[in-house]
Amino acid sequence: MTALPPKVALITGSTSGIGLGIAHALATEGYNIVLNGFGDPAEIEKTRSDIETRFGVKSIFIGADVTDYESVAKMIADAENKMGSVDIIVNNAGVQFVSPVDEFPLDQWLKIININLTGVFYGIRAALPGMKKRGYGRIINIASAHGLVASTGKAAYVAAKHGVVGLTKVTALENARANITCNAICPGWVLTPLVQKQIDDRAAQQGVSVQEASDTLLLEKQPNARFATPEEIGAMVCYLCSDGARNVTGTTLSIDGGWTAQ
Ligand code: NAD
Repeated sequence: MTALPPKVALITGSTSGIGLGIAHALATEGYNIVLNGFGDPAEIEKTRSDIETRFGVKSIFIGADVTDYESVAKMIADAENKMGSVDIIVNNAGVQFVSPVDEFPLDQWLKIININLTGVFYGIRAALPGMKKRGYGRIINIASAHGLVASTGKAAYVAAKHGVVGLTKVTALENARANITCNAICPGWVLTPLVQKQIDDRAAQQGVSVQEASDTLLLEKQPNARFATPEEIGAMVCYLCSDGARNVTGTTLSIDGGWTAQ
């Protein structure tokens, strides 16, 4: 009997932060990895080849912009051609912009909705036909604590992330009999470039040190006063891809140090 080929996971926005942590966690479990996102080509190539050498899996990079449906559809088709399938899609690419709602720049609103919500829809829409044909799929959307509760200054982000939670439920229901699950992970604060920028902005605005800005940002929301790590988000993704999670679908999994328990 020949061994089954390893499954293939595509993670959007995996050149940095949480997405890269998820890619490493899945590679550790033996999944072949499709990386996606923006960045310096030489750095991305280093990240890609490092995954192959460290974890002994196959890895390719496809630099599609998740706001362009044609590019996303081509990314899925190219990944299926080069890797054999896309069994797992982690819709993770996301950006942030902070401003009061009545001053929110119109272009930033559209940018956040396009990347954080429409990009997730595009990934799901393009990946589902192949998953249905093969009779297996795991769709994991990286939402946020802001998919469940709100904070001031984050109108577009909170709207997009609540939208991702709704989209997750619909996708789960429509595919409940197809051996395809769809879930949303809702992290609290994770120290990545996206959050470091918010800390740096707060330090500059409030005239305090970066350390003080980081401490107060964390304490305002996260009762355990500890950042989650990309590795911890990766471990949750691995759980959702495990056989033990085959009945987990259409739900949100929080990893927020108690943020949304308040
Ligand atoms: P990050 O800035 O470190 O990484 C974002 C990634 O998305 C990068 O790889 C970037 O190249 C990619 N990206 C941006 N625009 C893209 C586009 N149009 N097409 C393709 N790729 C694009 O951010 P992060 O903190 O790792 O965030 C990852 C996800 O986790 C986001 O959806 C974010 O909303 C969510 N999240 C983050 C936190 C946190 O505290 N960091 C908390 C909850 C949820």
